[in-house]
Order: sequence, then structure tokens, then C-alpha cells
Amino acid sequence: MVSWPNQILKIRPDQQYQNNLQVNVYGIFTAGSKPSNFNGRQKRFNRDINLANQIWNGGGMCNINFIPQPVFEVKTIIDVTNLGFQAAMEGPVKGLIKKVKHKIGNPTGIYVVYTSGNDFAFSSGSTSPIGAGGVIIEDFRIKDGIPKFTLFGSIALSNRALNAPFTFAHEAGHVLLTELDKQPFNNIFKFNAIDPTGPFINPVTGKSDIAHSNLVGNLMAPVLPNIIPTIDPLQLQKARMSRIFQNAIIK
Ligand SMILES: [Zn+2]
Repeated sequence: MVSWPNQILKIRPDQQYQNNLQVNVYGIFTAGSKPSNFNGRQKRFNRDINLANQIWNGGGMCNINFIPQPVFEVKTIIDVTNLGFQAAMEGPVKGLIKKVKHKIGNPTGIYVVYTSGNDFAFSSGSTSPIGAGGVIIEDFRIKDGIPKFTLFGSIALSNRALNAPFTFAHEAGHVLLTELDKQPFNNIFKFNAIDPTGPFINPVTGKSDIAHSNLVGNLMAPVLPNIIPTIDPLQLQKARMSRIFQNAIIK
């Protein structure tokens, strides 16, 4: 259940895209997310975006730019302690993002929800996730045999991600590396996050994970290093082709 506050702070209309490799990022702080004061939240949001730009726009090889938009504070509570990340993303996170973006005119971009709770509930493996990233697809239709749709990025970060500074950059990677599976199954098209430097092979279980990199120290490795992660040219090349950079043109 999500509720909408009477007042939203600092709304600005959709920003014009300067070029097709910029993506607007909207921050949504829920009740109980850290820090608790507006200035601290603004600082956390700016830090997340700045580090993502350092990684995704590093060295002049790649010019993907995340453009920070004003931060919203809402009274909705999303405590992820007892929520698996998939349940969170498909349920309350998606609901809140849809409400916020509808209020501000459905601008395309990435929406990042700062939740309460230290970690998401255990899914599999030995660590609890602190972030999740995916897409919200709207207006999906097939026109002359070609799938058409609008893609929005959706990210959720738990309170512990406050101390893991590259989490946003990693989750943004999942958004940018998500692709449409061109083979519909029972007429249902699926979107999959596929890392071109994967799959990650879990050394303990032997399980294969297509969403994550198998390169040590890489941004898209399933567990992030504390030092600045690396990014691979294959990842940059694929990310640049993300539909999120084309939304503004197609519309
Ligand atoms: Zn991941």
C-alpha cells in the first residue's frame, strides 16, 4: 500500500535532453530512509550520481552522463527488511515510482527509491542485497512487426547502501544493460539484464548468473569492491545502445 503526501518538494518539469547519451535521474526518499534530513539526502543523492558519472563517463572513452534532478521526499514507507528484492521491485517500489513520475508528467529517466531497512531479505547466496535495479516498461505494442515501448529505469537502495558508495552505479548498470528478448515466449516479450562480461560463475555453488560480470573488481561483479570498480569496453558499448537514451527521440 502506498500513499501520496499532500506536498511534494521541489518539482521541476522534464528536462530537455541535450544529447542522446544523457539520462535524468530522479531521487525519491521514503520515510525512514537515511539520512533523515533533507540536506543529508541531497548529499547522498549527489554522491551516488557523481560516482556513477566518474565510472560511466571515465577516461573520455564513454560519455554516458547521469543528470541529477531535484530530490523528492515522500511519506510512504518501504521497509525492505522482510522483502526480497524482486518482491520489492515488482510491488511497492514500482508503485511509488509510477505515482511520482505520473505526478511530474512521466519524464523518461531513472528513478531511484531510497528505502528504509538495512538490507533486502535474503534471496539466495550468503549476503543480503542492498540494492536492486531494473526497468519499468510502458506502452508496449507491436507495430508492423516491431516492438515499441517506453522504458524507465527503476532502482531501490536500502539504508546500508549509504555506506557502499558504488551501489547506485552498479544498479544503473543493470538498467542500461537490460535488453528486450526478441524471442517471445507464448507471445510474451521479456526483458533481461545481461552483462556482456558475464555470466558470473559462483565459485562455491557453480551457479551461473547472466546479470553479473565474472571479472574481479568490475562494477558489475555481484559483490562490489570498496575501491573504485573497473568497467569494461564491452559494457560501455552495450550500455550506449540502451533504449533509455532513445526514448526522447522516439516519442
Ligand atoms: Zn547486481
